[in-house]
Amino acid sequence: MKPLIVANWKMNPLNLAQAKRLFNSVKRGLKNIKKAEVVICPPFVFISNFQNLSSNNLKLGAQNLFWEEIGAYTGEISGAMLKNIKCQYVIVGHSERRRYFGENEEMINKKLKAALELKLFPILCVGETQNEREKGETESILKKQIEGALKKISRQKIEKLKLFIAYEPVWAIGTGKPCDFEEAQKMGLVIKKIISKIYNSINFAQKIPILYGGSVNSRNGIGYIKEAGLQGLLVGGASLNAKEFVNLIRKIC
Ligand code: PEP
Repeated sequence: MKPLIVANWKMNPLNLAQAKRLFNSVKRGLKNIKKAEVVICPPFVFISNFQNLSSNNLKLGAQNLFWEEIGAYTGEISGAMLKNIKCQYVIVGHSERRRYFGENEEMINKKLKAALELKLFPILCVGETQNEREKGETESILKKQIEGALKKISRQKIEKLKLFIAYEPVWAIGTGKPCDFEEAQKMGLVIKKIISKIYNSINFAQKIPILYGGSVNSRNGIGYIKEAGLQGLLVGGASLNAKEFVNLIRKIC
């Protein structure tokens, strides 16, 4: 499987001209890159401008979705709307959504179900805070988040599509203090163990791709793939600089 490299632009940039410049620079930089699948997740307002620009190795994703399809849900965007503008991936349960918008396990579970139903590839984010890590709660937090998100989602449903899980320790996001490769590898195994218990199958768990996210840049990105053996990256800050982001990908390929 090719590594999946996801750019999470978050609430950036400020206007469409800048968004187009960034998107086009990345697209140009990825010419001839075949050994990675790259997904760009711009803010909702920009996505439709790029719907005809995705290519074999460059796809579109969204940073969030609402679980209902249509109706009186002020301010929300549905998965069906995302499909209509050619989004193929969607980030679900990012720690910033949990923290600033009160997303809990039940909501994340509904979003995940909606994404799978619509055949949008979900990238489920999980990870502990600094405080939880210091209290030795990392594994129990990951277990709670993964079990909650996957509640009543069958193995068949996931197998029909693809579910990506991004291990994103909250203490590493945007802090310039990434998780080391060994620890990221260990957490990848913890996540697979949790999935194998839920579905009673080690084989199934092995097939779930695990991404790492948290202060990834062009220097350390390759280590999570080649040393930690993970299947991809979720990149925030470094994805806002086309040169840096393309460099990161080129080193992996
Ligand atoms: C993120 O928010 O998903 C993220 C990984 O951010 P950063 O790369 O900026 O730490």
